[in-house]
Amino acid sequence: MASLKDVKGIGPKSLSLLNKININDVEDLVTHYPFRYDVLKRDDLSKVEDGEKIIIDGKIESVPILMRFKAGLNKMNFRLVTQSGVVGVSIFNRAFLKSKLLVGTDVIVIGKLDKGKNVITASDIKLDVLSNKVKIEPVYHCTSGLTNKNMSNYINMALLQFGKEIPDYIPEEFREKYNFVNKKTALNIIHNPSTSEKLKEVTIRLKYEELFGFMFKINYLKQQNKKEKNGLNRQIDRDEVNIFIKKIPFKLTNDQLKALDEILNDLESPSRMNRLLQGDVGSGKTIVAFTGMYANYLCGYQSALMAPTEILATQHYNNLVELLKDTDVKVALLTGSTPKKEKNDIYKGLMLGTINIVIGTHALIQDEVIYNNLGLVITDEQHRFGVHQRANLQNKGIKPDVLYMSATPIPRTYALTIFGDMDVSTIKEKPKGRQKIATYVKKNSEIKDVLEMMYKELQDGHQVYVIAPLIEESENSDLTTVNELKDQMKLAFKDKYRIDIVHGKMAGGAKDLIMEQFKDNKVQILISTTVVEVGVDVPNATTMVIFDADRFGLSTLHQLRGRVGRGTSKSRCILISDSDTERLKIMEKEDDGFVIAEEDFKLRGHGDLFGVKQSGDMTFKIASIRNDYKILLQARKDSKAYLEDESTDKDKLKKELISSITNVN
Ligand code: ADP
Ligand code: MG
Repeated sequence: MASLKDVKGIGPKSLSLLNKININDVEDLVTHYPFRYDVLKRDDLSKVEDGEKIIIDGKIESVPILMRFKAGLNKMNFRLVTQSGVVGVSIFNRAFLKSKLLVGTDVIVIGKLDKGKNVITASDIKLDVLSNKVKIEPVYHCTSGLTNKNMSNYINMALLQFGKEIPDYIPEEFREKYNFVNKKTALNIIHNPSTSEKLKEVTIRLKYEELFGFMFKINYLKQQNKKEKNGLNRQIDRDEVNIFIKKIPFKLTNDQLKALDEILNDLESPSRMNRLLQGDVGSGKTIVAFTGMYANYLCGYQSALMAPTEILATQHYNNLVELLKDTDVKVALLTGSTPKKEKNDIYKGLMLGTINIVIGTHALIQDEVIYNNLGLVITDEQHRFGVHQRANLQNKGIKPDVLYMSATPIPRTYALTIFGDMDVSTIKEKPKGRQKIATYVKKNSEIKDVLEMMYKELQDGHQVYVIAPLIEESENSDLTTVNELKDQMKLAFKDKYRIDIVHGKMAGGAKDLIMEQFKDNKVQILISTTVVEVGVDVPNATTMVIFDADRFGLSTLHQLRGRVGRGTSKSRCILISDSDTERLKIMEKEDDGFVIAEEDFKLRGHGDLFGVKQSGDMTFKIASIRNDYKILLQARKDSKAYLEDESTDKDKLKKELISSITNVN
């Protein structure tokens, strides 16, 4: 690929400016697409309202009068004859144009119309009037020192000099099938569109190309994973597994059984499992994971389950121990607050293989931890773990199978892309008897109503979660608000109910103690500073109150809400906020996590769904997963077919695509 400095007009200074905005070679330059287009469509004087933007063409009727006020400030006035009448034009700081603005010259004036004075205050005057009535002008992201005009010139020069060398990532068969123009033509049009129809056409083509390349890579990774056949060889005794399932105090839903079956099949298959288990909050993913770990134990391998918080790890541990109480399975809990001596014992047990299942937090992936024969790694709420940490854990085992659990339902569009190299099991069905959680959006001024609702529930013997207002400044002021809130609650409920606090800076042991007390109904109102602390299962808690609800994404709110409604009693969730209530009201209507995630996705983009930003490949130059779903589906299908078509294995393009895959992940 030609280098940028070979492009005529690009000197050392512009070169460094281009590099600054990540344009490093000719391909980067010509695929620096306009982020929008200004459509210069001529208006009619009578149809533009007072104070509105106007674009109009006409002939200059009077010699422009130039006024200079002080250095750097001047103004020019002239009269313009248009098809819809005569109008005054004034423009600041364009003294240099005076010699060109001769009487009789055709110009396009862009500006704001003052109807009363019949004057346009112009922001721009264009001399290059075309005969056609519409001109579409590309607008680029630039940087100080580099104008839109510069950018456009460089791009067009690069296309002229090197247009034929720009690689085209669409295989010929698909280019023909869809009647796509070649890459050079497409680039020429996207940077210099003459009509919006043509622009639309090549935009689709370029989006397709980008998504095709992306999906090819994802499909390739998936294929390699399946091909490798270097996973563990297991034969699972399904009868034993069924005996275990019978001991579970409830009946698994069909979706749970299906997900479990998919996991067991993966464990038996010689390929490594790389599966995402997704399900709405409360859909019962944990028990599926436990059963998978038990099956893995039956085959003689160790399992590790990593949870995002100590509280959650402890809860999982307690539940699993209870479930396995009359088996020989040895389960250990390893967290940051496990005492040193106990920790060393666990390390030893994991190394010798006397511990079969370990549950914990990040402590599981510390360097000291050596496993005897780790066969299965499960991460709960996987998006809270960085990619690096996950990789680190995977590297500990020989070739462990990996299951990710996520309670943030992933819109289909996402699942196809970031998790496109994974298999996905989905639990949609909720366990029987679950009811819809009544949700209310309230203002801070309505706190009395909120306290009344809480009081009613407390009187009925139920418990309440309160998520405290978020304070960003410091941990200390954070504590102040929680304590103030506690005082406020005390004032409202007197000493009838016990109120306690968990917060982020609390030592693990202290947190566990309070959670334990909440679980045992020794604490009735639990105030929590952070979201994470409440990833727990307390069926008697029926009310969730969230302050500053507008600060959370809908998916997060949905997860928080899912902490209640776990028992058989009617439950409610109160979202307190003075702003953004339109968005929050979606929560009043909707209780399907998948729909909510999709809404969130539409409203906020993918920014806060996962650690998406960690995988830089999600940034597309022209395509958008959100808007180009249909193209994505087609590109996915086509790229899969292309990948699987052995007759194209020798293609230069295919080889190029494969060799670029080191950039994915
Ligand atoms: P999540 O998918 O959010 O992690 P959990 O696994 O914590 O959900 O399950 C939520 C609650 O539902 C737990 O108390 C669990 O024991 C219970 N549960 C799970 N599956 C079923 C089922 N099939 N029937 C009844 N209760 C179930
Ligand atoms: Mg869970």
